[in-house]
Amino acid sequence: MSRFPIILSAPSGAGKTTIARRLLAERTDLGYSVSATTRPPRPGEVDAKDYHFRSTAEFEAARERGEFAESANVHGHLYGTLKAEVDRVLSSGQHVVMDIDVQGAKQFAAAFPQSVLIFIVPPSISSLVERLKARATEDSRSLARRLSDAQDELQALDFYKYVVVNDDLDTAIKSVSSIIDAESLKRTRGGEVIDRVQKLLADLEREIGKHTER
Ligand code: ADP
Ligand code: 5GP
Repeated sequence: MSRFPIILSAPSGAGKTTIARRLLAERTDLGYSVSATTRPPRPGEVDAKDYHFRSTAEFEAARERGEFAESANVHGHLYGTLKAEVDRVLSSGQHVVMDIDVQGAKQFAAAFPQSVLIFIVPPSISSLVERLKARATEDSRSLARRLSDAQDELQALDFYKYVVVNDDLDTAIKSVSSIIDAESLKRTRGGEVIDRVQKLLADLEREIGKHTER
């Protein structure tokens, strides 16, 4: 079956990482592209699992070597998708899930037009603020920066093919899962469905032959 990149973007705190993690736990046909970043790890984050944590010099050297499929400055830190991560997941036969910002999504989709772009929005700004506070990962300056960046991010909505409101988490996860299923069945993605129709046509021709011989 043909595999494709699935890009999840959202204002910080809307819940895209939570949705991505749950989908990855529930579906064996998905793999995660672990991004590189210069942001310091949060408590509990593990190098090479949550992110490849890099110094600015290391990140820039990797960018010079052409190792990124896209990269961007987000909320004051550098983030990038490693080509090797995307290749690793796609070559293992899985769709590649990417949790990246709007600038990165635009760069990546230009290079990989088969990507599926999904925008996750919070049900309200008060819940966005509550979630960011409850996550307790940002100091007040970083939280203010993330809220102010959310203005630009929400305005990029038109670039995305799908929008999912993350109010009830289970419902949002089901919606994203349904989008992946529907995209997998697109005729234009080719894959085994096309082979199946070719076989149906060949069998049908034989069947018609049998009936006209009688
Ligand atoms: P993002 O990756 O978009 O920045 P996270 O996935 O880290 O956001 O979610 C931010 C916080 O909100 C986390 O503490 C998470 O557990 C919580 N959260 C995510 N989705 C929901 C939801 N539907 N209802 C309530 N809390 C949620
Ligand atoms: P966080 O610091 O909360 O993990 O992520 C902050 C922002 O960076 C989010 O919008 C997230 O989607 C984005 N991000 C994470 N990885 C990448 C990446 O590889 N490329 C780009 N462009 N953005 C990323």
